[in-house]
Amino acid sequence: MFCRYDLHSHSTASDGTLSPAALVRLASEAGVQILALTDHDTVAGIREAREVAETCGIQLISGVEVSVTWSRQTVHIVGLNVDTESRVLGDGLQTLRDFRDWRAREIGKRLQTAGIQNAFEGALAHSNGTLVSRTHFARMLVERGVVEDERKVFKHYLVQGKPGHVPGNWASLENALEWIHQAGGEAVIAHPARYKMTRTKLRRLFGEFQELGGEAIEVVSGSHGRDDCISMAKHTNDFGLLASAGSDFHSPENPWVALGRLPLLPGDCRPIWDGWSGVEAGASRLAG
Ligand code: AMP
Ligand code: MN
Ligand code: MN
Ligand code: MN
Repeated sequence: MFCRYDLHSHSTASDGTLSPAALVRLASEAGVQILALTDHDTVAGIREAREVAETCGIQLISGVEVSVTWSRQTVHIVGLNVDTESRVLGDGLQTLRDFRDWRAREIGKRLQTAGIQNAFEGALAHSNGTLVSRTHFARMLVERGVVEDERKVFKHYLVQGKPGHVPGNWASLENALEWIHQAGGEAVIAHPARYKMTRTKLRRLFGEFQELGGEAIEVVSGSHGRDDCISMAKHTNDFGLLASAGSDFHSPENPWVALGRLPLLPGDCRPIWDGWSGVEAGASRLAG
């Protein structure tokens, strides 16, 4: 049995390959009942997603994935049930998109030095023209045949120590939570197992997040193995945090992360959606 909730997904408003409308339709076909659209640093896709969700019986949760620099590392905080009209959130996300614009040009310059011409223009052409992600650079280099697959582009060009790397200068954890909460939303630490932090550092992140009023940890994620789910469920209980579940879907071309295929939350954690009103779904959690 699969989870009916998917609280982490991307559209062409950031680095997904499906439009918000196509994403919602695919989620509906895949049996998702409650979907959060959580594009990187923007809520621009929510309106379109909501319109289509109403026609195909999906409950759409308005969300966002905020880029954060914490302890000299990039971490992602998902905001769920945010008011997309919130001025505080809107202004905050705008500062992140301004940094993104600068960074994309900077990545382009650095790749130029490494012999790759017009990289910024190429990445921009893969984006919707307003928000450029490293993913767009990766798709461009794969399309040009410079690198075999996106993963290798990150490994050889875009991460620390590689020619196209530009250090992140994103929101502070405190600001990200402030924006999400001012917009009436709940904050979730996205895909914690992906940060490759030591257990001590990860627990420091959970502790600070909890003290700042953060609500939940993504226990089930498209990038988590079974052991990750179990250990993250334990952390939620240790820190008195809720549990969330999201695929982090970006594209139907990626066979590893599909919509509607998330395992149920371990039975010993408290789902973030337990307190949500007007949300009805079938199984979402293992008995226990
Ligand atoms: P950005 O926010 O522009 O720095 O890009 C981050 C995005 O790049 C993530 O949300 C993923 O979609 C993608 N990404 C990060 N690391 C990798 C990787 N190793 N392989 C493929 N995609 C990645
Ligand atoms: Mn992404
Ligand atoms: Mn992320
Ligand atoms: Mn994501």
